[in-house]
Amino acid sequence: MIQLIYYSVANVSLSETDIYDILEVSRKNNSRNNITGCLLYYNDAFLQILEGDEKTIEELYAAIEADERHYNVRRVYADDIQERLFKDWSMDFYDLGKNDAGENVTSRFRKSFSDIANQTAQSTVAGELFWDIAHQLIND
Ligand code: FAD
Repeated sequence: MIQLIYYSVANVSLSETDIYDILEVSRKNNSRNNITGCLLYYNDAFLQILEGDEKTIEELYAAIEADERHYNVRRVYADDIQERLFKDWSMDFYDLGKNDAGENVTSRFRKSFSDIANQTAQSTVAGELFWDIAHQLIND
């Protein structure tokens, strides 16, 4: 099994419905293909961690890379793993910026991620990198 992390920039024309379409298809496909992971969307940036069988992940990544709903798709990390970080769901989605007017985004971010961290106790390089990039995203 491998874990793969990439980030990308959403096309300006992407609506909330488009994002929920991506999420719905991802949940369905990933569950069927035994892929787990997490998708973050914040300030037009996507950050995703995918985990599962190497060939399946590489095929999915090729499809994602070619998807015109985003651009500047950059693979930042991929490595073998023995155990999944995300065991209990096929795909989680955090729209960190949604309805955040007047709210402390950083504290919401930390709360969301302490919730996930509690469920992803097993630490890996990819896991740490994922949270690091997520923190950078929110602080930009
Ligand atoms: P299809 O039946 O081909 O398409 C499903 C729906 O998406 C249809 O409504 C179709 O109109 C629409 N659609 C598909 N491709 C495009 C496109 N290029 N532009 C506009 N609309 C389109 N897929 C996963 O399976 N798992 C993931 O974790 C995952 N993560 C993604 C993360 C991001 C940031 C993005 C942008 C896409 C992601 N995708 C993911 C979608 C992936 O790129 C493919 O579109 C999808 O895997 C195709 O699956 P399908 O053949 O079952 O869907």
